[in-house]
Amino acid sequence: MKKVLVIGEILVEIMADKVDQSFLDTGSFTGPFPSGAPAIFIDQVAKFGVPAAILSGVGDDDFGKLCLDRLSGDGVDTAAVKQLRERATGVAFIRYNSDGSRNFIYHIDNAACGSLTEEDVRALDWNQIGAFHIMGSSIFSQEMYRIHKAVLEMLPEDCIVTFDPNVRPEILSRDPQLSDLMQEFFGRSELVFATEEELEFLTDGASFEDALKLCFSKGIKTVVVKRGARGASLFTVDTRLDQGPYPKENIDPTGAGDTFAGAFVAGYLKDWPLEKCLTNANIAGAFAVSVRGPMSGTITLEEIPE
Ligand code: ATP
Ligand code: MG
Repeated sequence: MKKVLVIGEILVEIMADKVDQSFLDTGSFTGPFPSGAPAIFIDQVAKFGVPAAILSGVGDDDFGKLCLDRLSGDGVDTAAVKQLRERATGVAFIRYNSDGSRNFIYHIDNAACGSLTEEDVRALDWNQIGAFHIMGSSIFSQEMYRIHKAVLEMLPEDCIVTFDPNVRPEILSRDPQLSDLMQEFFGRSELVFATEEELEFLTDGASFEDALKLCFSKGIKTVVVKRGARGASLFTVDTRLDQGPYPKENIDPTGAGDTFAGAFVAGYLKDWPLEKCLTNANIAGAFAVSVRGPMSGTITLEEIPE
């Protein structure tokens, strides 16, 4: 089986201990937790037993070692992760608010994961790659934009493309260039993950039904809609599947979407029926929210309850 590849940030997350804790006052934080949306995604793919690789960068420091040990321990191929002396591993600080919202301070662009270049992408052996997962939130700089443009040129014909925009529409709408690139990926994907809000944005404000029709007219085969604590749904041109939430306590919601997508993509590549892909992804997403740490909730197939 060929590999699933993802490109993007590997970082550690440092989490404010109290709800509504401010970044403007001194407070206590817990971490480092291995993190980064693409890293969480690929960790879950590997834990489901599908060959998985990430192109990224970490510093020659303990945060980088922590992340690499976790990823490679879970079976991710990290050969394409550059270890740099001149840059530190990425860091994200996160705080939760009592209304359920979150705030981040990211050190990624100027960290090791922000040092990828087009040459790094060209150096990959694309014949080994059977599926490419686009993590929209990883297009965080001009260079990452160029890298993703280059990917579009290099993708082998038969490579399956899966796409999670994972971007707040209000950020995307301020950058027409990024928005155009998202459209290109949207048109090249066969499997798309999105929240209803993202789907509306990607289809220029179309109603939900029209958005789905547009997806299918572009060649997208399956649209998976993430609904947070309400579960998830799946649409093909002639099917609709809905799943309520798998019951788990919500301790830390960050990373649920990435874990969910990783579990789904792994099942999809194993040729599982779509319903089984959705059920297991829904369970994986629920496990992800039930523990502290964005990558702490990824699970193996053996851990999926009967
Ligand atoms: P993030 O960007 O924070 O990683 P997301 O917004 O992309 O997440 P969500 O919809 O929050 O994605 O979560 C993905 C999936 O995880 C949901 O569709 C659902 O299957 C599962 N999930 C999320 N939150 C809960 C919850 N509180 N209880 C049970 N399952 C959940
Ligand atoms: Mg969420």
